[in-house]
Amino acid sequence: MELGKYSIGIGDRFGRQGKAQLEAVMRMKSLGVDVSPVWNKSHREHRLVGSGPSDTRKEADEAVRGLRWRGPYFVDADHVGMKNVDLFIADSDFFTIDVADFIGKSADSRSASLFAERHADLTGRLDIPGIPEGIEVTEARIHEIAEKYLYAVREAGRIFRHVADQRKGKPFVVEISMDETAEPQTPVELLFVLAAIADEGIPARTVAPKFTGRFNKGVDYVGDVRRFVREFEEDLAVVAFAAREFQMSPDLKLSVHSGSDKFALYGPMNASLKKFKAGLHLKTAGTTWLEEVIGLAEAGGDGLDIARTLYREALSRFDELCKPYAAVIDIDPRKLPAPDQVDGWDGRRLASTLRHDPSNPEYNPHFRQLIHVGYKIAAEMGERYLDALDKHSGVIARNVTENLFERHLKRVFL
Ligand SMILES: [Zn+2]
Repeated sequence: MELGKYSIGIGDRFGRQGKAQLEAVMRMKSLGVDVSPVWNKSHREHRLVGSGPSDTRKEADEAVRGLRWRGPYFVDADHVGMKNVDLFIADSDFFTIDVADFIGKSADSRSASLFAERHADLTGRLDIPGIPEGIEVTEARIHEIAEKYLYAVREAGRIFRHVADQRKGKPFVVEISMDETAEPQTPVELLFVLAAIADEGIPARTVAPKFTGRFNKGVDYVGDVRRFVREFEEDLAVVAFAAREFQMSPDLKLSVHSGSDKFALYGPMNASLKKFKAGLHLKTAGTTWLEEVIGLAEAGGDGLDIARTLYREALSRFDELCKPYAAVIDIDPRKLPAPDQVDGWDGRRLASTLRHDPSNPEYNPHFRQLIHVGYKIAAEMGERYLDALDKHSGVIARNVTENLFERHLKRVFL
């Protein structure tokens, strides 16, 4: 099955919102825009929630069957490495191979030299359509990039071949991700990383570079939007150029991670995609889990009790919950309300504090980020939480669908 020009990663912590998420994609289709749904979940998330890749597969298949979706859809083994990829082979058909951990592990100098020689034809001033000033490439620069990235790309090749071998001919999509690094890649770096991916024979369909600015979980972009747009467009240009130059997949496209709720970027991204006639994979993260809590709050009664308890518990375990996400959240504890105060709120008030609506004065991004990292507490509630999801599935589904459709899909892809 073809991934298509546009696709969206719809991560779902507890695996209960498959249909509500697919419903949003179907609404896009009724507007004439095809977007392929990709259910993504990382090993870390599976471990925290106590689920496995077969649960994600079941969720996706059931949603597709239930809503009679005829388009392509995928299950993504998100950010896998050699250590955990085997757990995902049977149930996934999209593999996000994470090379970030290996970036900077030096390739031997001889491999780097061979790589630089092989691509010596690209030295000088390169005209890349879409980058008005072109890019300058020297052999020394290619050598440097090879030293920084070649080892990582070879590791990705090893993982890819392992997956291909185990899948025994069953097709799958490959994404190469390097977003979880400290520094964004420059266009020249991206170009030669793609050259290395092509040399390694990895049929990458999507590539996730690191962008400038902060992509905090579940909240808006923090950074220089104009600088982001320049980087994004340079990357779009490089990807199109590399696809031709290195005979990669003609549909090679960018993947943006932690892409949920980046409202400041969606309008400009939409314009850039049209300008470059480019495709995109947008990975959302955790935004659906937050809609579950919003739905529970709106449901009132036991649902609202759960939402209040989640907050109280999350606050009491602040350090433990925030630590694994320290690089991708910014919570000011002074801006968090006291749990006793929250216990006095009605469902409407709690929902509007949590819902990502910047025009609502009650919206609190600190509160939202804390709940974002608090899904472990819901996982610990076990049946109590899951039963509440079933009991209040109507109001939750409405929130999940509307969030994905109105605030994400329409803004990025319409
Ligand atoms: Zn990522």
